[in-house]
Amino acid sequence: MNIYTQHQQELAETLRPSASRSDWTDWKWHVRHSIKTVDDFEKVLGVSFSEKQKKLYKMTLAKFPMSVTPYYLSLIDREDFENDPIFMQSFPCVEELKIGRYDMTDPLHEDRDSPVPGITHRYPDRVLFHVSNTCAMYCRHCTRKRKVGDRDSIPTREVLEKGIEYIRNTPRVRDVLLSGGDPFLLSDDRLDWLLTEIGKIEHVEVVRIGTRTPVVLPYRITEDLVEMLKKHHPLWINTHFNHPRELTASSRRALQRLADAGIPLGNQSVLLAGVNDCQRLIKTLNQKLVKNRVRPYYLYQCDMSEGLTHFRTPIGKGIEILESLRGHTSGFSVPTYVVDAPGGGGKIPVMPNYIVSWGPNKVVLRNYEGVITTYHEPTTYESSYCDRECSKCNLQLKEDDAEEKAIGIEKLLSDWDDTTSLTPWDNERMGRRDDVA
Ligand SMILES: *Cc1c(COP(=O)(O)O)cnc(C)c1O
Repeated sequence: MNIYTQHQQELAETLRPSASRSDWTDWKWHVRHSIKTVDDFEKVLGVSFSEKQKKLYKMTLAKFPMSVTPYYLSLIDREDFENDPIFMQSFPCVEELKIGRYDMTDPLHEDRDSPVPGITHRYPDRVLFHVSNTCAMYCRHCTRKRKVGDRDSIPTREVLEKGIEYIRNTPRVRDVLLSGGDPFLLSDDRLDWLLTEIGKIEHVEVVRIGTRTPVVLPYRITEDLVEMLKKHHPLWINTHFNHPRELTASSRRALQRLADAGIPLGNQSVLLAGVNDCQRLIKTLNQKLVKNRVRPYYLYQCDMSEGLTHFRTPIGKGIEILESLRGHTSGFSVPTYVVDAPGGGGKIPVMPNYIVSWGPNKVVLRNYEGVITTYHEPTTYESSYCDRECSKCNLQLKEDDAEEKAIGIEKLLSDWDDTTSLTPWDNERMGRRDDVA
């Protein structure tokens, strides 16, 4: 049952005196009535800012626009709104205008790693496909802040077709991640068409959708949507809860519908100063997610995007949080903590160190309680030499011999490649060699 509280009713009526319960549970009503100005925000939340504050907020909005669904706004605690995690994620803050020395407009080089508009192809076997340029709510901590409200239009069918064509012509792509913007702001029909077209590509084994609608617009998860999604398995969905307060009756119901449709659910949180930078809070959040059949997938270090400086924590905070999770709670309540490498290097996992030391025969490890223990390496293990000819190997992986070349550290470890070092191309020493040659 969706909850429509007295508070939500009042709030809806401030927006539109004739608003009814069925308006409130209609996702399109929320999109149409999203709050985009400081004046409307004041009116709807029932608070007032000083003229000076308002001027600063408006300056911030001129650079980074605002859009909040009435539903998400209704979760703000009016009594202490300035510290409210919902408020902080949705309402501008003048700190956004302070561009830090290391801030970048596109820290992850998503635009530079883009072979065709809308596609970011960073990893060997998977692509990010930006299928929508808009979101139900503009997160103040958005890493793609540069784009928010900029081209607030749904990509044309031609653009999407070009993306699909790229995937079709790139056999290494076995995993397609639909992102945006929020793919669930597309109509059911448009999404159905996209999933059908991608589904026809033989080498695509799995499709994922990243959406924040279960958090900011849970009414988007309609029965019709879910019925349509069910036709496109294997389909995975990742959502974006950052605070336990976001798990309301309505959002839990949205999650239930998705899970009941057999869609594996994951969550990607962002570690945000003043919002969720607390061990206990993250533990509670992850336990609540698991209770709702959502597997915590990633905890992101906040990116070095312009306007996010005030949200950033040291990486040490994230490591401390991970230390308080592993061992202390169910293993599947522990996400992987990642730093998305500035410059487009992709996600780098970071965690506490568990290997204390290492000798030829023994590995010394520690656990979450501080117990230090020894693992004896086997004396009988014979490492087989791998030349990547699986047909000659006893492990019965009955696949064709591997053709792809290994890259990175995998290559240094391999038996069949003689590379012994990876050297940055602009290494000064290498430069001197070229000068001599
Ligand atoms: C995060 C991301 C992916 C998916 O990474 P996984 O670790 O497989 O979840 C793919 N492409 C880009 C550009 C990404 O940022």
